[in-house]
Amino acid sequence: MADDSADEIRSDDAWFREIAEGAGDVLFALRLRPDAAVEYVSRSIVDQLGFEADELIADPGLLTRRVDELDALELQRVLASPAGTKGWLDLRWVHRDGRRVWTQSWLRTRERADGSVVLEGTSHDITELREAEQARLVAEERYRLMAESANIVLWTMALDGSITYVSPTVLQMRGFTQEEAMHQPLDQILTPESQLIVTDYYATLYADLGAGRIPARFTCEQEYYCKGGSTIWTEVEVIPTAGPDGRINEILGITRDISERKRAEIQLRESRDEVAAAYAALKDVTAELEQLSVTDPLTGVWNRRQGERLLASDLLEARRYGTPMSVMMLDIDHFKAVNDTYGHEAGDHLLGDLTSRLSKNLRGMDSLARWGGEEFIIVAPHCDIAGAGSLARKTCDLVADEPFDVVGRVTVSIGVAELCPDDDRDSWLGKADRALYEAKSGGRNRFVAGAIR
Ligand code: GH3
Ligand code: MG
Ligand code: MG
Repeated sequence: MADDSADEIRSDDAWFREIAEGAGDVLFALRLRPDAAVEYVSRSIVDQLGFEADELIADPGLLTRRVDELDALELQRVLASPAGTKGWLDLRWVHRDGRRVWTQSWLRTRERADGSVVLEGTSHDITELREAEQARLVAEERYRLMAESANIVLWTMALDGSITYVSPTVLQMRGFTQEEAMHQPLDQILTPESQLIVTDYYATLYADLGAGRIPARFTCEQEYYCKGGSTIWTEVEVIPTAGPDGRINEILGITRDISERKRAEIQLRESRDEVAAAYAALKDVTAELEQLSVTDPLTGVWNRRQGERLLASDLLEARRYGTPMSVMMLDIDHFKAVNDTYGHEAGDHLLGDLTSRLSKNLRGMDSLARWGGEEFIIVAPHCDIAGAGSLARKTCDLVADEPFDVVGRVTVSIGVAELCPDDDRDSWLGKADRALYEAKSGGRNRFVAGAIR
């Protein structure tokens, strides 16, 4: 626009103001010399900077104070420029509410007939544009960083399953070049299990697209083949992306190397298994120790300590419920002679054979314990003297009737005693002991019943 036509417009004050005041952009005239003044600024300045035109006219320094400090020098340069300068200028401002505002101005400086110099122009708000540009730059930078990061491979795939892009980092991850990776069929890329995941995903994707649904993002672990036949574990994130028309036209994939994590997981699992195995072994050992602490190692029946315990608890119960209970003291006859004739080992053997024969003859609630040497005790709850007597007789016969390995025929003597109301442990066992002594002196291979209740 020529200078004189602008002057004509300005001279037609009403027409100029109508256009200027209605415009979205700001129109302005600032006097630079001989003195500084805001001669005119259109109404839309209130949208751009938050100040009314009158405020700026009343305080000529206000406008320069609102320029972002990063652009202060640039503004000074423009204000000092000689008459006849024109051009575009982008500036950052601080809005009254504190926001950063970007403007793009067309400016010119003009010397009037009276010698004064004025800066005239328009100012357009480009904040949104600049912010979008800024965001795009940041996003691009992020994308570049990701694409070049060694343990990530970015790729895109068309809806027909063909690969349209693979980032160069595929070389570090899988040992294939971009070119090679892009032309591999699926079965050369993924192990069979991982291929299944892809096939499933595509089925869901097509179902979603067919039904007009937006397909969801998807994350899974996949095992890729590397050059040379090894494999690598990865985590794959799949993002369906839309083209400019808003339709999904591509799959964006991010494949991350997680082999370190996988190794750690496997190690953790292995050490967990080791701990579990050690714990199970410890439990076995504990159970074995418990067993050892209550059994006699030679015969496998209860040891003396456990015999005492069972005797005490059964006695307590018999007292509480007033039930009968008997005890039998059993001693092998002439055992010394067995040892002397067949050897100590044969004697040991006999002890084992004899106890297994005795055990078979007992009721579930009866307890057999080795009391010492070749002497045993049978604790028989709920068993009165008559029952105990018949059990003792059966036991004698059981031993005597069938010869034992190596040592042949062996007999036992048994002393039986039923628990009497005024008995304690010692008096009760004393009776059984005395009965045993009587059985021995009475000729052996027999039982004697002690005092009756
Ligand atoms: P009685 O008919 O009077 O009971 O005669 P006995 O020979 O059986 O009795 P004695 O008390 O004279 O001898 C018991 C023998 O039992 C002595 C001991 O060496 C033997 N003995 C004790 N414990 C064991 C053992 O664990 N193994 C073997 N082989 N012999 C044992
Ligand atoms: Mg004996
Ligand atoms: Mg003895």
